[in-house]
Amino acid sequence: MSATHSSPALSVYNTLTRRKEPLAPLRPGEVRLYVCGPTVYSWVHIGNARTFTVFDVVVRYLRHRGYRVSYVRNYTDVDDKIINAARETGEDPAALAERFIEAFEDDARALGLLSPDVSPRVTEVIPEIRALIQALLDQGVAYAAGGDVYFQVSCWPEYAKLSRRNLDDLRAGERVTPGEHKREPLDFALWKAEKPGEPAWDAPWGRGRPGWHIECSAMSEKYLGTTFDIHGGGLDLIFPHHENEIAQSEAAQHIPLAKVWMHAGFLELENAKMSKSLGNVVQLRHALAKVDPEALRLFFLSSHYRNQLAFSDDALADAEKRMEYFYETLQRVDERLGGREVKPGPLHGDPDVHLRAFEQAMDDDFNTAGALAALSGLFAQLNEYLDKPPAPDRAMVVRTLATLRAVVPTMGGVLGILQSSPLAWLERRRDRLVAQRKLDRELVERLIAERSEARKQKDFARSDAMRNRLLEMGVELRDGAGGTQWKVRS
Ligand code: AMP
Ligand code: ZN
Repeated sequence: MSATHSSPALSVYNTLTRRKEPLAPLRPGEVRLYVCGPTVYSWVHIGNARTFTVFDVVVRYLRHRGYRVSYVRNYTDVDDKIINAARETGEDPAALAERFIEAFEDDARALGLLSPDVSPRVTEVIPEIRALIQALLDQGVAYAAGGDVYFQVSCWPEYAKLSRRNLDDLRAGERVTPGEHKREPLDFALWKAEKPGEPAWDAPWGRGRPGWHIECSAMSEKYLGTTFDIHGGGLDLIFPHHENEIAQSEAAQHIPLAKVWMHAGFLELENAKMSKSLGNVVQLRHALAKVDPEALRLFFLSSHYRNQLAFSDDALADAEKRMEYFYETLQRVDERLGGREVKPGPLHGDPDVHLRAFEQAMDDDFNTAGALAALSGLFAQLNEYLDKPPAPDRAMVVRTLATLRAVVPTMGGVLGILQSSPLAWLERRRDRLVAQRKLDRELVERLIAERSEARKQKDFARSDAMRNRLLEMGVELRDGAGGTQWKVRS
């Protein structure tokens, strides 16, 4: 069911040109993607998770479109924040970084994020970083001073082409902080001289450690080549991080670092960007203790990735209710199909229309909101065929239901949702609601058993009384082919 890259072009908004452009990979059939990964000094929050989910879906959709995708996402495991955090906990910075890499990978797995093909760490690419700095020194666009090495922004005329900032304004806003050896305020550190108690490596210009920006230039070149297709991250990385990456790489290589620059909008809490420095964060693991991971993904994908997205508990609860509707529909369809093999033959209408609408939306700069509308259209039709079959020909209705049902894993696979069996998902949802409402599960199950007994004895007054009592507790019953099922009303 996967489309091929010869279908009409997928368009992507490029921050560099401020336009949507047809995706034209540098190597036919292959997309090379680099995403700036986490700085591992704390637990990942759901703002970070939104950005990583956006690129996860980009990778999934490109693969669905038939592209081979080389996906690299790094770990920043050497950084001031890590050193400071380690000082607070009394840990070795490397041990602290390792601990948070493991925590990140657990959380990423729980959210259903695909593993990148390569997840390099700064500490693994020191030789490449040194070589790149040496190339910049050799070309006269970087200088060593006081054991540090700086990139000299005035030597790179294209500086600020990504962010389109005004250099004079930038200069006016920058200060050289004491202890730095910059010639000009906009120059930025490629290498920082060793300080006591900090990690350090040997280099021809003196022992020390890399500055932040240089790592992504070195890692992307190592794993994807000097020019690759898409570079991504959150909006906050446009300046200075990505601007500086471009300056370093392009001043050294004289070819573009990446063709397309994609940036995800912020997840906001009470109208402010969720960020560790503001302290308004919800850690991903805390969110996942309360809400289903697919519901969290659904929430992230409910708005276009370039929009800001407002976080609230209500929005998450709504997303989980929506997932419940999807899974309840699937469960009913599966009951109706009853595991029967459906014989080929004519169908009602054109089931492919939903997949085409889904792909059309995703082709338009990964419009996941539109893709979810297409998915909802498919579910609306499934429900219509379950409740009001459009024709008396039952075999044809069942065949159409089966064909529509078969599209669900394809769309769900692209968005990373609907990956569970309906029954298992609905049970997990029920368990969560039972715990949240502090319902007495034994009592519920006993009342349901008593009601079944009353029904068997045709004592309908009693069975109705039981049903009403359960309803008052917020428990709804559904009598199906496989017996009575119950759910907690939301
Ligand atoms: P950091 O670990 O802070 O370097 O961030 C990792 C990634 O998460 C980067 O791509 C950031 O741009 C992104 N990010 C950070 N905060 C948010 C937020 N509130 N909403 C969306 N993305 C974010
Ligand atoms: Zn980066």
